[in-house]
Amino acid sequence: MSWEDNVRKVTPYTAGEQPKGRVIKLNTNENPYPPSPMVATRIYDLAQQELDGVTSMLRKYPDMDAVPLVDAIVRVYNEQYFPQGDGLTFDNVFAGVGSDDVLFTAFMTFFNSDKPIIFPDITYSFYDVWAQVHRFPYRMIPLKDDFSIDINDYLDTENGGIVIANPNAPTGEYLDPAELEKIVKANPDSVVIIDEAYIDFGGESCLPFIKKYDNVLIVQTFSKSRSLAGLRIGTAFGDEKLIRYLKDIKFSINSYTMNYPAIELATVAVLDTEYFNETVKRVIKTREWTKEKLKELGFIFGDSKTNFIFARHEKISGEEIFAKLRERQIYVRHWNKPRISEYLRISIGTDEDMKELIKALGEIVK
Ligand SMILES: *Cc1c(COP(=O)(O)O)cnc(C)c1O
Repeated sequence: MSWEDNVRKVTPYTAGEQPKGRVIKLNTNENPYPPSPMVATRIYDLAQQELDGVTSMLRKYPDMDAVPLVDAIVRVYNEQYFPQGDGLTFDNVFAGVGSDDVLFTAFMTFFNSDKPIIFPDITYSFYDVWAQVHRFPYRMIPLKDDFSIDINDYLDTENGGIVIANPNAPTGEYLDPAELEKIVKANPDSVVIIDEAYIDFGGESCLPFIKKYDNVLIVQTFSKSRSLAGLRIGTAFGDEKLIRYLKDIKFSINSYTMNYPAIELATVAVLDTEYFNETVKRVIKTREWTKEKLKELGFIFGDSKTNFIFARHEKISGEEIFAKLRERQIYVRHWNKPRISEYLRISIGTDEDMKELIKALGEIVK
């Protein structure tokens, strides 16, 4: 017997590489554009405030409920999703340190059953890692051959909870909200978590569900569409009761995970809807251009509504293309895993990034 027998052992999530220097980085779905210029302005203002000393906010604990940020989210999301009124209130929104933090807390809060938690076999690879950490049983349900979800698999299967990324990652497959609604409806005794990390790039959000069902949690992030992966901001939306349970767990671990500058910067970012819409539009335009070029080069892929394309080549192996791109300092994501080893997940960069990529691929597959 040794202390090591009592260690909570897990195989950690493997993140995409973060290479240094001048490379073309299309491997972790970051936004190629900077965040709203309001963020830099606010950093400057906050620095002035700290230099003043007297009004320094950093000496104080931050607001546990991230009030300014949640207020801003309520305002902006109500305009976007509930223009006719009766939308979100403060108590429908939870904020955390990136959606990884939000999802981890949600798993801990809502997945506490002896029955297995179910999710697709190919999806965000944090889900099974968190299942190991939390020690709850889980079952991965195979996607269809075309990587789409067969919703029948989720309608009458005993489960202790469900998590689905929509659009899914890394496949990019998108499920219509009407289909997801059937899953939510068929599982009133489970919490269904819908991870909408990529929803702003062309899909329709399931956010309105939270007004109809008390068993659905919608999770979103500022890391992709709002260019703030480095700030770590994630949100969840749900019925008031659900959000209260989530906060009970959060406040039982560490109430102050969201620091004061992060709250302030995320607040100005979310309020700048004009910049957000413009950036998202640019990424989508570049994505559609990239799809056309990839098709011409013999790549096969589904209709991505995200800021990445999950593609394989008709002749050349995923591993070979990945290695040859890497030699050229172009980083994409490749997994040596069953079913997806022929595929590359290519994040959408700037127009220049994608031109370089297409040029390199042209040489590699010719
Ligand atoms: C990127 C991503 C997240 C996590 O993003 P955060 O940076 O932690 O907000 C969650 N789910 C999926 C499917 C993602 O791709």
